Amino acid sequence: SRWILGVTGGIGSGKTAVTDHFQRLGIVVVDADLAARKVVEPGQPALAAIAAHFGDRVLDADGRLLRPVLREIVFSDPAQRKALEAITHPAIRETLERELTAADSPYAILASPLLWESGQSALVRRTLLVDAPEHLQIARASARDGVSPGQIEAILKAQWSREQRLARADDVLLNDGTLAALQAGVERLHAGYLQEAST
Ligand code: ATP
Repeated sequence: SRWILGVTGGIGSGKTAVTDHFQRLGIVVVDADLAARKVVEPGQPALAAIAAHFGDRVLDADGRLLRPVLREIVFSDPAQRKALEAITHPAIRETLERELTAADSPYAILASPLLWESGQSALVRRTLLVDAPEHLQIARASARDGVSPGQIEAILKAQWSREQRLARADDVLLNDGTLAALQAGVERLHAGYLQEAST
């Protein structure tokens, strides 16, 4: 089977900056967030299953998923959340497996903000955590998204802690310096991954 690296990290940690650089080095990056969006596009079986379970109130006139409506339903009801995940998780998993299998680079990357929480870590050989001090996560994410530091802080509190992630990761890139330093770290790891994937 293919050699796959899982890349994860909290909000604003620098995951995209890291995976963009791996991509520049020729590595195929499969994005779990993108896969989660694809499986609920019109025409996808998961969207039909969602409409069958939750009713047409979760679709707009064009048959597109009304995310805010669905979010509201599952937010307040753990059983409904479970029902949604029972539909989407297998579909996402299938998409990720198909895309990772098709990846034509020396190794491939699965980028997932919820790599461990979702169980997607089962698909990877090794894990890389992009780690940053919380004050930098908050500053970077709020500057990027134009939202208040308080909103980013609330998201941060709902996610796994740095300690929880650090305890699980095989490799860690501490993103507390310049982008150039981060990219140098990526290149150093890439050399090792190429070696490992070829043996
Ligand atoms: P999210 O999970 O919220 O999508 P992410 O982990 O993918 O975030 P990025 O989008 O890569 O994080 O980084 C957040 C912001 O901080 C971006 O605007 C990025 O350009 C910037 N950034 C990341 N690392 C650095 C750095 N070392 N120096 C300066 N800016 C950085």
